[in-house]
Amino acid sequence: MDARQRAQDLARMRDEVFDIVVIGGGVTGAGVALDAATRGLSVALVEQRDFAAGTSSRSSKLFHGGLRYLEQLELGLVTEALQERNLMLNRLCPHLARPVTFLYPLTHRVWERAYVGAGIALYDALAAFGSNPLPRHRHLSKRAARRLVPSLRDDVLTGAITYSDAQVDDARHTMSLVRTAHHHGAAVAASVQVVDLLREDGRVTGVRARDVETDDELDIRGRQTVNATGVWTDEIQDMAGGAALRVRASKGVHLVVPRDRIDAGAGLICRTPTSVLFVIPWGDFWLVGTTDTDWNLDLARPAASAADLDYLLGQANRWLRPALTHADIVGVYAGLRPLLHGESDSTSKLSREHAVTTVAPGLLSVAGGKYTTYRVMAADAVDAAVAAMGVDAPASCTESVPLVGATGYQAMRNRRDQLAAESGLPVDRIDRLLGRYGSELPVLLELLRTDPAMAECLPGTDDYLAAE
Ligand SMILES: Cc1cc2nc3c(=O)[nH]c(=O)nc-3n(C[C@H](O)[C@H](O)[C@H](O)COP(=O)(O)OP(=O)(O)OC[C@H]3O[C@@H](n4cnc5c(N)ncnc54)[C@H](O)[C@@H]3O)c2cc1C
Repeated sequence: MDARQRAQDLARMRDEVFDIVVIGGGVTGAGVALDAATRGLSVALVEQRDFAAGTSSRSSKLFHGGLRYLEQLELGLVTEALQERNLMLNRLCPHLARPVTFLYPLTHRVWERAYVGAGIALYDALAAFGSNPLPRHRHLSKRAARRLVPSLRDDVLTGAITYSDAQVDDARHTMSLVRTAHHHGAAVAASVQVVDLLREDGRVTGVRARDVETDDELDIRGRQTVNATGVWTDEIQDMAGGAALRVRASKGVHLVVPRDRIDAGAGLICRTPTSVLFVIPWGDFWLVGTTDTDWNLDLARPAASAADLDYLLGQANRWLRPALTHADIVGVYAGLRPLLHGESDSTSKLSREHAVTTVAPGLLSVAGGKYTTYRVMAADAVDAAVAAMGVDAPASCTESVPLVGATGYQAMRNRRDQLAAESGLPVDRIDRLLGRYGSELPVLLELLRTDPAMAECLPGTDDYLAAE
């Protein structure tokens, strides 16, 4: 996708009447576009900034069932999310999703191991409903736990349990979804902001949008418009004068800490007074998060406060030695969870489930949910759009639609030694590139072949090449 593709798709958006116009290029909107396109529907997707610029680049980057939702007895939600996790690992994006081991440290001798062990065993059992490619959980003695994570505090630890989940570069994954949707015929454009809704005879018939690059306005017509704008849901609904769903923004902050500051061979999941704390391996870094507080300021610029940093350091240091300090923090990011409005005052208790609602004739909102379950949300939204259009469209088939780079990935991975020899790149570099581009890697290697300067590392990082 490039400037030429954007111009072509904008021209299509001006000319065509689409079955579905999707507002919002986060994982939900990208998922809706892919679901609709692969059912043979015509679809346009617009995003006001860059794809995944909202919450979908600021998550904990886990495809997971959510161990802590088990405690809230959300068994259906956890099972569904675990099935999606397995699908990502097995079929939809095995190049982008990778296994990650978490250690749950125990501090009490008997009851805690029994209680947490039962929960994690149930988590593994629920995962078995899909084809689970990950190792099962393991109970560790205190010594074994400290061997795996030497940075764990000796004075509080009694033992541990390890289990597996999956992680993903969320922004790259959303971008891959958009590219896959485009490959299947969707017209897609970033930097296009919806500023109003088009109406005819009381129906919403599309959107009025502004090309942020040129300031030009364009009308994009569709039989159904799907509002997939996450924490901006209310703004679009207000344009229709309706308030079908109310979405509350809950801020979550992560610290980025260099890998050598924590001596650990696995991630950590630790209980906090209200939720859990994750310490997640992320390339040369650890992500330490997250928080859960209301946010009522600029939705485009959630920011961490000094109190957020102190809270996260304090929680991490309940478990880690040497203790982390402010000097160890090399980055911070904050994102906003789009939570469906509930009765509860505490955002950590608001529902993580999603909802699809008719806001006005011709306009649907889809919101809530988790990154992991975007595909289910998208299928529900397109089902609702199809029902509202009264057309006969096939059922969702995204369960069997691999993302760009997924088809042929395993075969290419098996050839990584040859690829390294042919390209002159080290095998671990080939591995990392395969983890970003999958079976599209030859396109990148061809760039390196024609222009060796493209094989230089980008300034400030030895992880990314100029060609990227
Ligand atoms: C701290 C944190 C950690 C999380 N960790 C996880 C996790 O590990 N695993 C998991 O499964 N889930 C996780 N989540 C939840 C998950 O990230 C979100 O549920 C998901 O990313 C929401 O995606 P979305 O597409 O609905 O919203 P967004 O990604 O916010 O997308 C909405 C898009 O709409 C666009 N938009 C808004 N208004 C307009 C307009 N007028 N015109 C055009 N475009 C517009 C925005 O720019 C934005 O890009 C986490 C969330 C947070 C905050």
